[in-house]
Amino acid sequence: MVKRKRRRLKKSVKNIFLLLIVVFILSIVYLSTDKKEPVKVMKTETPKVLKKKKEKKNIDEDSFMVSCKKLNYCKEEFEDRYKKYKEEHSNLSIEDIVTYVNLNLDYSFYTHTEKTPILNKETMLVNKYLYLDSDYVPDNLEAIQSEYSRSGMKLVKVAKDKFVEMSKAAKKDGYSVIAMSSYRSYKYQVNLYNRYVKSDGVNGADTYSARAGFSEHQTGLCVDVYDGKIDYTNFEKSKSFNWMNDNAYKYGFILRFPKDKENITGYQYESWHYRYVGEEIAKYIHENNITFEEYYVRFIEPTI
Ligand SMILES: [Zn+2]
Repeated sequence: MVKRKRRRLKKSVKNIFLLLIVVFILSIVYLSTDKKEPVKVMKTETPKVLKKKKEKKNIDEDSFMVSCKKLNYCKEEFEDRYKKYKEEHSNLSIEDIVTYVNLNLDYSFYTHTEKTPILNKETMLVNKYLYLDSDYVPDNLEAIQSEYSRSGMKLVKVAKDKFVEMSKAAKKDGYSVIAMSSYRSYKYQVNLYNRYVKSDGVNGADTYSARAGFSEHQTGLCVDVYDGKIDYTNFEKSKSFNWMNDNAYKYGFILRFPKDKENITGYQYESWHYRYVGEEIAKYIHENNITFEEYYVRFIEPTI
């Protein structure tokens, strides 16, 4: 009896063992076929996917130029540069890509420079790509009344008249806007820039001072101001600064190097540097929170 029982037990253990082996083999077969399938799919679909992606990219690129051509400041000869810039800055709008490339922002500052095309006008642009000759002196420079300026400060007549009008209005409201630096000759800028390079090196000086010929101060259309008390670099902390924020545009002046626009202007934020551009342009720039560079590319350059 016991012997038979033992044999039966042995047999059933053997069966269980065989069943386990079968299950093991089946699961291996299942797993291996499961793995193979996606590989097969990948192999047959990858070229298709790639082709589709390529087609989509071509459509995107073509539609980019179609949209670009609708802008009156799109330059078809810049197509390759636009597309390259778009690849590197996919978050930007078409308007911004075209504007930035037209400004040469796809090149480093002080490379690909050219003589600025407009002279002696409030629409002229001088920056790290557009320069003035060493002998350029603006027409109609006039001294600013000493009441509103440190001695010897000059601006182009139209800017000077508007600056005085603005300073008078500020005074009437109980504030003080005094010119501490305005027109600067090419030679003056050479000395100033070289002095800054000596103390901060070229890279440091380039963030806050212009190289000679590239300084807006040579246009006679811009002015550094202070409130007559605290240092001009702290103008932002004065109440007069708030007054300028609300009123400067009414007299044709704009804050030329605003906060968070360093990548466009090439300069760190300067709360004291104001540029005369005329009332209409100043109003537009003030209301749309853009830089003079952007305005120039979109509205001035196409008319040259
Ligand atoms: Zn300045």
